[in-house]
Amino acid sequence: MGNTSSKEPGFRESVNLMFDRAVRHMNLSEGLVEKIKVANSTYTVRFGVKLRGDIRTFTGYRSVHSEHSEPVKGGIRYALSVNQNEVEALAALMTYKCALVEVPFGGSKGGLCIDPREWDQDELERITRRFAFELIKRDLINPSQNVPAPDMGTGEQEMAWIADQYHRMNTTDIDARACVTGKPLNAGGIRGRVEATGRGVQYAIRDFFRHPDDLEVAGLSKGMAGKRVIVQGLGNVGYHAAKFMQEEDECLITAVIERDGAIINEKGLDVETLFAHIKEHGGVAKYPHGKYEKDGSKVLEMECDILIPAALESVINLENADRIKTKLICEAANGPITAGGNEILRDKGVVIIPDMFANAGGVTVSYFEWVKNLSHIRFGRMQRRQEEARQEMVIEALEKMTGKSFPNELRGAFVSGADELTLVRSGLDDTMRGAYADMRQLWLDKRKDDKEMDLRTAAFMISIQRVADSYRALGL
Ligand code: GLU
Repeated sequence: MGNTSSKEPGFRESVNLMFDRAVRHMNLSEGLVEKIKVANSTYTVRFGVKLRGDIRTFTGYRSVHSEHSEPVKGGIRYALSVNQNEVEALAALMTYKCALVEVPFGGSKGGLCIDPREWDQDELERITRRFAFELIKRDLINPSQNVPAPDMGTGEQEMAWIADQYHRMNTTDIDARACVTGKPLNAGGIRGRVEATGRGVQYAIRDFFRHPDDLEVAGLSKGMAGKRVIVQGLGNVGYHAAKFMQEEDECLITAVIERDGAIINEKGLDVETLFAHIKEHGGVAKYPHGKYEKDGSKVLEMECDILIPAALESVINLENADRIKTKLICEAANGPITAGGNEILRDKGVVIIPDMFANAGGVTVSYFEWVKNLSHIRFGRMQRRQEEARQEMVIEALEKMTGKSFPNELRGAFVSGADELTLVRSGLDDTMRGAYADMRQLWLDKRKDDKEMDLRTAAFMISIQRVADSYRALGL
């Protein structure tokens, strides 16, 4: 958590305040609004694992926010700060996120109070399997009911253990692998899942830059090349977003904020070498190609064009929002800006690309992985070579008709059929573009008479309407 003031409500209340703001623009019955808002259930488990000669007790949660569409979906977080309020807020955000990007899942989230760095691989495996056992036994992990994924502090390895644990307890379930997403490729994962959330952040910002009207609201000039970007948190999401934006969009990553401070370089940092340095030394200090600043919070307030908070919730709040000096914030983390912080920024004219859209790339590709697991076949396997044969025929025909040969430099790209990674990226890009188009249209329409309308409120309105419609269709 950021340095929030005592006036600041908790994370779940903050999400609810933003929800309430959106609902005021809608025409829904009070009862339905309440039904959509509350978490359906939160299961708390305390279990013991014998470790280092003694029994250690761990506390874990799995919260289900909305079952209007099943399975419900959302990551499992490993962090000491995990608590019920946090998992419920995160589960609610999953509901709105899935609805916005039209991924057919309800929202859920889990967490385990643990510092994963304190335990070795074998110990983590035993803890994870035990936690998974508790959730599986209550159908809180199940391919048709509740499908977890990685989140902060977890990754492919934990997902592989969870999948195996489910399989051991359900040996005849042919769809067992679909019980969790974010698995390694050799355990039923999909290409492009690890990079997916960061890739989605890049696509979200590209979408924004595709629209001159949107840029004008933020006071940004056209083109991503040369834009100064500050990234908070070089974990899986921040690293991939920063890397792709630097390598493919020619953005300048002018500062990176990490646990132990920040590194600044106005000419742009090389994300790959900085990431390798963090891996080796555990932090950014002593990175040779930039200026080190111990107080990361100061760097969050430095001037830049795009600020990407990709770490924890509530880092921009009532206390520091006024000092933020950027034009555009893209919320790569879940809930990095509090409801109060959001209002201060909006009044200052800062545009915020909201979390439920900006970081939806992860769950979108999780959806592709789940479909792949249920269909038991890799995307592209049936079509790829046939597509190539057709393209070869087109080339042959063109050459016959014109008497000229097809340009060699185009041949490879023209002929090659789409493999799984290409299809995953294309599906993700299409999903992000569709959601952005819906969100910005409502935003710009409503802004004509209401200058307080922001992208987040528009995103909430779309999601809430979709959830409401499916509740109505269910006859509730
Ligand atoms: N933990 C990620 C999120 O917050 C991914 C969830 C998923 O793939 O189910 O969106």
